[in-house]
Amino acid sequence: MGYDCDLLVVGAGAAGTMAAGQAARRGASVLLFDKNARIGRKLMITGKGRCNVTNNCGRDRFLEAVRRNPRFLYSAFDAFPPQEVMRFFEEQGVPLKTERGARVFPVSDRAVDIVDALRRFDDANGVRFRQNRVLSLLTREGVVTGVSTADGGRFSARTVLLATGGLSYPLTGSTGDGYRLAESAGHTVLPAAASLTALITEEPWCGELMGLSLKNVTLTLKKGKKVLFSELGELMFTHFGISGPLVLSASSYIDGDCSDYALFIDLKPGLDPGRLDARLLRDWDEMKNRAFINSLDRLLPRALAPVVVSLSGIDAKTQVNAVTREQRASLAALLKALPLTVCSLRPVEEAVVTRGGVKTSEVSPKTMESKLVKGLYFAGELLDLDAVTGGFNLQIAFSTGYLAGISAAGAILEMQNQGNEEHRG
Ligand SMILES: Cc1cc2nc3c(=O)[nH]c(=O)nc-3n(C[C@H](O)[C@H](O)[C@H](O)COP(=O)(O)OP(=O)(O)OC[C@H]3O[C@@H](n4cnc5c(N)ncnc54)[C@H](O)[C@@H]3O)c2cc1C
Repeated sequence: MGYDCDLLVVGAGAAGTMAAGQAARRGASVLLFDKNARIGRKLMITGKGRCNVTNNCGRDRFLEAVRRNPRFLYSAFDAFPPQEVMRFFEEQGVPLKTERGARVFPVSDRAVDIVDALRRFDDANGVRFRQNRVLSLLTREGVVTGVSTADGGRFSARTVLLATGGLSYPLTGSTGDGYRLAESAGHTVLPAAASLTALITEEPWCGELMGLSLKNVTLTLKKGKKVLFSELGELMFTHFGISGPLVLSASSYIDGDCSDYALFIDLKPGLDPGRLDARLLRDWDEMKNRAFINSLDRLLPRALAPVVVSLSGIDAKTQVNAVTREQRASLAALLKALPLTVCSLRPVEEAVVTRGGVKTSEVSPKTMESKLVKGLYFAGELLDLDAVTGGFNLQIAFSTGYLAGISAAGAILEMQNQGNEEHRG
């Protein structure tokens, strides 16, 4: 039987473009389909347009950053670790730099350079790109045979890779088609939900502080007494609650009922309670007759002071020299752990990453091939894998894409060799 291609890749995002080029480089004829006219639409908006392309870390740090199913990624990580991803882009003519937290960006701060590099790599290896929306998978007796497309086309392929992404930012093309395609092949798809997203909080004062950004604060997320997340960084108040880098990372630890979780902001992480108390005493010593409401300007952003005053339970009009030692201690405790109540996560469409997806136990971690349908491969966010911020999610896409691409190319070579053997026989 003549095939339209050896490998048909559905989805030209980070995972699909990497897989397509790697397979083509190893001799496979590759068709790359995306419903968008151009490749890498989501990549273009990553890292606020700068693209945090990977994290320059070792395996342990990487696996620690992966929130769901990290062990599934051992082989993919080893096949294409961050240092190889970096080498790949540098070889494609994109100089990189490493910033705080080992986050890697193009020196140009332009995500488009990463997309162009992938396009050049795919072009140079003969990948044929087509704008096409894949509607269904074609299979026969447990073996994939091709796909059909929205315009009524049918394409035969020896192998098919699904790299259609998750459900986040659907305007980029990631609308969950891959979940339906995987299910049609008999795969279990775990419900998609938001990971790395802003949080809706109960406290009305968050909305009143909309636009206020806090730098160098520590956000702590607890479930019961257990601290799940505690990091220093930046957060901001919005009309619905809180957002920003710290909040996104904390959100990936929230699973199920939000009322089980408690959030605290340490507004003065650089001062332990004793030093904070001394600082309050020193400040207030210089403003003896001032009312409590007007006494926190040196310590806090102006807009936040009335909120802290009202939560402290100390009468706003009290003169600072009349504030008791106990009241000062409880104020210090409040500044070290301002409590917030999480109502819910923002919807998955607004999340940076989708949690849930194709169940990893039904996919071979050594090849990314389906354990249910021969010749069907998976890569990227479509799988039930997600990580915290820092370049780890793109690393997941590149590692799994790479492994799927080289595995499919290897399988194709084997099929061709078998065909030759049978022919000779
Ligand atoms: C705003 C934002 C910023 C981010 N910043 C970063 C960052 O800096 N660093 C980081 O590591 N991660 C970041 N991420 C996460 C990262 O972008 C994703 O995890 C990653 O792009 C997933 O790659 P993917 O190839 O699996 O899917 P995608 O990049 O989503 O690609 C999937 C492709 O499949 C196509 N497709 C879908 N269905 C079909 C169909 N039926 N037929 C044909 N084509 C189809 C889509 O059009 C899309 O192009 C960010 C995400 C967002 C939303």
